Amino acid sequence: MHNLLVIGAGPGGYVAAIRAAQLGLDVGCVEKEPALGGTCLRVGCIPSKALLESSERYEQALHGLAEHGVETTEVGFNLERMLARKSKIVKTLTGGVASLLKKNKITRYEGHATILASGRVKVTRPDGEQEIEAERILIATGSSVALIPGVELDGDRVGTSTEALSYPEVPEHLVVIGAGAIGLELGSVWKRLGSKVTVLEYLDRILPGMDAEIAAGAHKLFGKQGLEFVLGAKVTGARPEGANPSDGAVVEIEGAEPIRCDRVLVAVGRKPNTEGLGLDAVGVQVDARGRVEINERFETSVSGIYAVGDVVPGPMLAHKAEDEGVACAELIATGYGHVNYDAIPAIVYTHPEAASVGKTEEELRAAGVSYRKGKSLFRANGRARALGEVDGFVKILADGKTDRVLGVHIFGPRAGDLIAEAAVAMEFGASSEDVARACHAHPTLAEVVREAAYAVDGRAIHA
Ligand code: NAD
Repeated sequence: MHNLLVIGAGPGGYVAAIRAAQLGLDVGCVEKEPALGGTCLRVGCIPSKALLESSERYEQALHGLAEHGVETTEVGFNLERMLARKSKIVKTLTGGVASLLKKNKITRYEGHATILASGRVKVTRPDGEQEIEAERILIATGSSVALIPGVELDGDRVGTSTEALSYPEVPEHLVVIGAGAIGLELGSVWKRLGSKVTVLEYLDRILPGMDAEIAAGAHKLFGKQGLEFVLGAKVTGARPEGANPSDGAVVEIEGAEPIRCDRVLVAVGRKPNTEGLGLDAVGVQVDARGRVEINERFETSVSGIYAVGDVVPGPMLAHKAEDEGVACAELIATGYGHVNYDAIPAIVYTHPEAASVGKTEEELRAAGVSYRKGKSLFRANGRARALGEVDGFVKILADGKTDRVLGVHIFGPRAGDLIAEAAVAMEFGASSEDVARACHAHPTLAEVVREAAYAVDGRAIHA
């Protein structure tokens, strides 16, 4: 009998399993896919970043090198090699997770898990089934693509991010449904490689949930990069047309003409994976949106059954799942463990990147919190000039009375790396003055964060 059986080997599950093993528990981990690492490693964060990097290199070679005095002749790309590189990175990393489980003496079970009762799980494989006993069970089954009525996925011309990570040719016209992280990242990849990309978004803005000023800046710049946005577009249907792949697809929009295109990427959000787990039968409660309900100790409504990651409420982000996995394992093994939900960064890996941590201005206003705001532009920064990447800004929001940093929002070069400083500052309860007083090396992009902190107090040096 295991002390802990983890269902799912994504960032929530495999990290929880390793942490629990480090703390001396006997751990098993069930995963239905042969490759470990979950959506993130197999068909999410990692392969999309590989393609974002490759396509950005191509874009730079085409349009970004001349200003540096670097002369190129005939820049081209080989899609097959680009995709093969991506697959190799995925293989290396998923293999790395398998080695980590082995190193930590975690027993791996391949197959589909169904919870029979608290402490008992059935694992089904094509060649048979097996029952496993464990003192505790952790559900870390993640999420899968959400669909909208009328949209018929055919796994080819009308598909999800999984297909968009492996299109065998560059679509002439790609329609993306949804202007969230997935739509903008993969839309950017195929735009750079030559597609006409139309992004249809139901709301009157892109990047819902991000600070509105960041989203507006991103909207403007991505428009300049050639992404076409149709805001306020409610997609009511999408399907392949005709029998041949070359017949393309059609997308229907409420109150507007349908759009014909080569491929459709559906990126309208994700839903928790709870089907087939046996939750009803054992009495694990889910909320109205199908997410497993948990208390602050990650316990579900059934004693001995826990849940973390995309399957529970909160942002569907790999690092949030990892943090919950660690905290849950620590709570089980030691009685202590904690996630600070006020300091979870979110990043969209476009070019430039958009990143944020903490409260947005809209949230602070809605909550009636008094705040001061400091903003600094990358344009005024020497390193940004040297890089040739001067678009964007850093915005710091600090409590009007205590000066504690409540939110940091960045749109600009390497925003995803710069946000780490803000997350650490917030974790330590820093004031904007603390950030401003900390020495920041010159010349670095991080100086823009410091300038924004100075600006909270109206004393920016380079503005
Ligand atoms: P999302 O929720 O971020 O965005 C979906 C968008 O689709 C929304 O803007 C929504 O208004 C729009 N939409 C919904 N129905 C529509 C309709 N009928 N017609 C037109 N537009 C419609 O979802 P996503 O981009 O699919 O990402 C899924 C999840 O994965 C999110 O939780 C996201 O945070 C996460 N993710 C994160 C990253 C990252 O952190 N870089 C990358 C990829 C995915």
